[in-house]
Amino acid sequence: MSRTAQSSGKVYLVGAGPGDPGLITLRGKHLLQRAEVVIYDYLANPKLLQHVPENAKRIYAGKKGGGLHAFTQAEINRLLIDHAAAGKRVVRLKGGDPFIFGRGAEEIEELVAAGINFEVVPGVTSATAAATYAGIPITHREYTASVAFVTGHEAPGKKESNIAWDKLATGAGTLVIYMGIKNLPVITRKLIDNGRDPETPVAVVRWASTPQQHSVEGTLATITGIVEEAAIKPPALIIVGEVVRLRSTIDWFERRPLFGRRMVVTRTREQASELVALLEENGADCLEYPTLHMEPVQDYSILDQALTEIGQYEWLLFTSINAVTWFFRHLNELDMDVRSLGGPKIAVVGRATAGKLRDYGLRVDLIPKTFTGEGLAEALIKSGAGQGSSILLPRAEKAREVLPEMLSKAGARVTVAPVYRNVPPQGRKDELRQRLEERSIDLVTFTSSSTVDNFLTMVDADSHEELHRLLDPVKIAVIGPITAATVRKHGLEVDIQPQQYTIGDMVHAIVNHYQHQAA
Ligand code: SAH
Repeated sequence: MSRTAQSSGKVYLVGAGPGDPGLITLRGKHLLQRAEVVIYDYLANPKLLQHVPENAKRIYAGKKGGGLHAFTQAEINRLLIDHAAAGKRVVRLKGGDPFIFGRGAEEIEELVAAGINFEVVPGVTSATAAATYAGIPITHREYTASVAFVTGHEAPGKKESNIAWDKLATGAGTLVIYMGIKNLPVITRKLIDNGRDPETPVAVVRWASTPQQHSVEGTLATITGIVEEAAIKPPALIIVGEVVRLRSTIDWFERRPLFGRRMVVTRTREQASELVALLEENGADCLEYPTLHMEPVQDYSILDQALTEIGQYEWLLFTSINAVTWFFRHLNELDMDVRSLGGPKIAVVGRATAGKLRDYGLRVDLIPKTFTGEGLAEALIKSGAGQGSSILLPRAEKAREVLPEMLSKAGARVTVAPVYRNVPPQGRKDELRQRLEERSIDLVTFTSSSTVDNFLTMVDADSHEELHRLLDPVKIAVIGPITAATVRKHGLEVDIQPQQYTIGDMVHAIVNHYQHQAA
C-alpha cells in the first residue's frame, strides 16, 4: 500500500462525549484548538466548536441516515480524505466514543486505503454518561458483575440478526441498549421471552448529560407504555438491570434545584461567566446573549462640520468610554489628532471616561459629583455653561436625551454628533424572539441597568403590549435596586432580588425562589 508521503495532513477521529461539552477529553479539546477543518455530527454538541480557531472550516455532517443536510457515509469519507490530502489537520468529531456504535472503524478503513494518517481519541460514551447522569451505576458488587452494550437498531426479529437475544437476556447483568427506542416493544418482549424477569427494572434516558435530559423508569413489562406516555424520542438509551434500583438513592443530575429551567444571561464584560457557571452548577440551562456590538454611523457630517469650527465650541462632552473611542477613531480617519481639539474644555460623566481620555493625552476639566447625565448637566450649568455657550456632544446614535435637553433649556447651543451605533447581534436576536414566542424561557437575569437595556433592545418589541405579551410568563431576577428600578421603568415587574448585591447572592435568591415553588 502506498502512503502519500508528501501530504502532512492528518485526520483525528475524536470522541465528543455524550452531550455536556465539559465531557470531552483534554486531548480532544487540544486537537479542536489546532484544527483546520472540523467535521461534526448531530450528536456532537455544537458548543464544542467554541474551541475551534475562528478561521477553521466547520462542516456539519448531519444526522446519520436522514435529515435535510445529511451527508452519506461515502460523502463523509470523501470529505475526510480530500481535506487531509490537501494537507489539513482534520478533526472528525463524533458523539460519544468513535468506536462504540460510531462507525469509527469504517471511516478509518477508508483513510488507510487512501494512505491518510490518522489518530483516534476515545470519548465518554453515552451509555456510561446516561447511567451516571441518571444515577445508575452500571456495575455494582451486589447486583451485577457484567454489562453489555447492545445496538437496538437491528430489529430483533430479523433472521440475519447478529444479536443473540436468547443469550443476552440472562447472560449479562446490565444491558445498555443504544438506538433502541423504536424497537423497544420488540426488545422487551424478546428479553422476557428468553427468560429475563418481566419485573426487571428498566430506565430510559434521553439527551443524557444535557439540560434537556429526560429519564423515565419502569420494568421490562411496563417501560414501553411509560416511554410512549412520556413521548420519549431518540436519542435515548435503555438501561436494563437490577442496578436501575439504585437510581432512587443516587439520582443527582435531574435533582439539582434549577434543572430544566432555561435562563437568559445578558452578558456584560466582567460578570457573565461567573453568573453562568453558578447557574449551571445548580442545573439551569443558560442562554447567553452577548452585549450589543457597535458600528460606525452612516453619516459623520455633523461631527465633520463641528471639527472645522471646533474653536467656537466652549465644551466638548463625553458620556461614555465608547463615545471617546469612536470619536478618536473618526478623528484618526480624518488624519487628525488631539492637536485639532485646541479650543473647548472637556467634561465627562464619570471617572472611567476620564481615564480613557488620558490614554489620548487629554486631561478633563470637569467631572460631576453624581455620575449621570443629569449630574453632568447640572455641574456644567453651575459652572456657567448655560446661556449662549456652544457645546459639542459626540455620542451613540440613540441615547438618553436628558443631557442635551437640560443644557438646551439652560440656553446652551448643543450639537449632538453621532459617532457610533449599537447593533444587537442579529441571528441571536431572532433566536431570542422565537424562544420567547414559544414560551421556553423561564427566567431572565439582569446584573446591571445596561443588561436590561441590551436585552430589551434585542427583544425589540413594537409596543408595551407586545413587550408584556412576550415577557409575561418570564420571571425577572435582578442584582440590586438600581437594576430593579430600570426594570420597573420599562413597566416590568421584578420577581427576584437578593438582599446583598452580589452575583452569588443573586443565584442564591434564584435557587430559593424555585425551591420554594417546588415545596
Ligand atoms: N458513538 C456514540 C453512539 C452513537 S449511536 C456513543 O459512544 O455514545 C447513537 C445512539 O447513541 C443514539 O441513538 C442513542 O441511543 C445514543 N446516544 C448518543 N448520545 C446520547 C445522549 N446524549 N443521550 C442518550 N442517548 C444517546
